[in-house]
Amino acid sequence: MTLPRWFLIRRSLLMSPFGLALVPPAQAADPDVAIIGAGVAGLAAARALMAAGKSVQVIEARARTGGRAFTDSTTFGFAFDHGAQWIEAGKINPAMAIVREAAAKAILDQSEQAICVAGKELSKEDYERFEKIAHEATRKIAEALKNQPDVAVGRLLVAQDPLERLAYAMVGPLEQGVENGELSARDFTRQPEAEPQYAIAEGMGAMIARWGTKVPVKFDARVVRVDSTGAQVTIETTAGQMRARAAIVTLPTGVLATGKIGFAPQLSAAKREAIAQLPMASFNKVAILFARRVIDAPAGRNVTALTRKELAFDAIVRPANREAALVFVGGALARALEEEGGRAAVTFAVSALAEIYGNDLRGAVAKSHATQWGRDPYATGSWSVARPGHADKRAVLAQPHHDRVFFAGEATDPVWATRVGGAYASGLRAAKEALAVLGGKR
Ligand SMILES: Cc1cc2nc3c(=O)[nH]c(=O)nc-3n(C[C@H](O)[C@H](O)[C@H](O)COP(=O)(O)OP(=O)(O)OC[C@H]3O[C@@H](n4cnc5c(N)ncnc54)[C@H](O)[C@@H]3O)c2cc1C
Repeated sequence: MTLPRWFLIRRSLLMSPFGLALVPPAQAADPDVAIIGAGVAGLAAARALMAAGKSVQVIEARARTGGRAFTDSTTFGFAFDHGAQWIEAGKINPAMAIVREAAAKAILDQSEQAICVAGKELSKEDYERFEKIAHEATRKIAEALKNQPDVAVGRLLVAQDPLERLAYAMVGPLEQGVENGELSARDFTRQPEAEPQYAIAEGMGAMIARWGTKVPVKFDARVVRVDSTGAQVTIETTAGQMRARAAIVTLPTGVLATGKIGFAPQLSAAKREAIAQLPMASFNKVAILFARRVIDAPAGRNVTALTRKELAFDAIVRPANREAALVFVGGALARALEEEGGRAAVTFAVSALAEIYGNDLRGAVAKSHATQWGRDPYATGSWSVARPGHADKRAVLAQPHHDRVFFAGEATDPVWATRVGGAYASGLRAAKEALAVLGGKR
């Protein structure tokens, strides 16, 4: 492991052979704010604080920025976003500010949507019925919330046939990364409408990494303890210790729930309960590059399908005009494939596509990659979901801890939680809270 520069500076000061009280160089001074995590929330908070004239230091466990937004730009010949990919509800989504600030190119998603069951595209009549089922599902959820504070979506949507099974899978597993029985109707309805939707030309992760380049980040430093009992906040990491006047914690709820990060004083019971009631969803992607043209479909076509075994998945076939496919799985299926490990997810994706496009594609797989966000120790899943009855826990998680430790990250946003927009908005909110306690320029 390479040690970060800040750690080496501290060590060289301690080990000075001259025994002189060395004045640390300006960049080694304790920052106003230490920010834990260099994902969208951490980068947004850092940029806002820097713009307000404060010094910041972001501390990141990985060797890169972006967190759950990461683009592989080389393996497949097109930008493969392992995590965040789209900006939904583009007219009102706070994430559009990143596009503007990074001067990135947003591409309006106008791709055609095909719906298939057991390998066959729906008939015209079935498309009409499918649309009715989807509308009725939305109506049922809204209606149920008029009479009760919350309910599990699975209690409202009980599928009677494959068409309903697929339509309902588009509510929980394929949209929220959880089964409908684990999905809070209240948390679900927090999400604004999805249109218009944009993708980013260079890839979402690539844009975010570029947008964050001016932010000072200490890489390969996993935070293990945040102590705010002294005059300053002390952050202990696997690569040394640092102090700051305030701290912003942007970690995924699943990472906080592992208990591998200690807080002094201890987090309140309410905050610990909020972390427990906002567990991580399961959503993964499989990218497949084919050696030749095996999919007879227009470039960039969206497919939502139920396999013969009644497993739901989404796909984009021939993305960026490549002989490739992206397959998305969520909820119990995503979790099961991740637990099985090895090539299970790729095997599923290939078989699922073969049901629709023919067995010829089985022998044409040139490259593949399946994400495993649940096994990633710095993510532990795809995004936070509120358990039924606990949609209000996002506001609890967002509360400051002990006055000088602020909480951000997608899970804390009241409207855009689970999304890049929520991470961004939460970073700005936490920066504002930190500024309020720090006062004017130092
Ligand atoms: C497969 C998938 C698809 C998605 N699709 C979309 C989409 O299309 N549109 C959308 O808007 N959103 C999408 N999302 C969600 C989106 O990626 C997240 O909501 C957002 O990126 C979260 O940002 P964040 O800053 O809150 O958290 P993160 O990005 O998780 O940032 C937290 C950072 O903390 C670091 N860290 C963890 N532990 C430690 C530690 N102990 N010490 C120091 N650092 C640590 C992590 O490495 C990470 O960099 C998707 C996510 C996934 C996984």
